[in-house]
Amino acid sequence: MNPREAAAAVVDPEIRVLTIDELGILRSVEEDPATGRVVVTITPTYTGCPAMDVIRADIRRALNVAGHPDAEVRTVHSPAWSTDWISESGRSKLAAAGIAPPQPVRRPGVVPLTLTLRCPRCGSPETEQLSRFGSTACKALWRCRSCSEPFDHLKAL
Ligand SMILES: [Zn+2]
Repeated sequence: MNPREAAAAVVDPEIRVLTIDELGILRSVEEDPATGRVVVTITPTYTGCPAMDVIRADIRRALNVAGHPDAEVRTVHSPAWSTDWISESGRSKLAAAGIAPPQPVRRPGVVPLTLTLRCPRCGSPETEQLSRFGSTACKALWRCRSCSEPFDHLKAL
């Protein structure tokens, strides 16, 4: 497995249905042609998500398995990560896991409207926010008024 594939397959510890590549936090994977040393660059997600240390360790472990024991993981904070960086396949996986994907946030000149989330289970727009914080700080807890099932919503950022 090449280092890019190895790093891209690492799963986010908080949103376990997504890889860090689908989440959009994997910025680059470079291999020094002279030394073979791999440098992985990532951008953290939500401030306050304590997952980055876990992700760094998981990337190093995955690269070690792929034959790159001295891989380095660098963190860049600019440009800041946005939920817009979540890939289309990532959004589909979130919905399939019962987590309402974040809405687009970075459209220039467009003021975000009040949220209306569709229930990821039955598709009903009759939903309400129960709590700003769900199972982790990155998620809000919502409930569907049609099927009365609670669901997580990955907050747009
Ligand atoms: Zn529902």
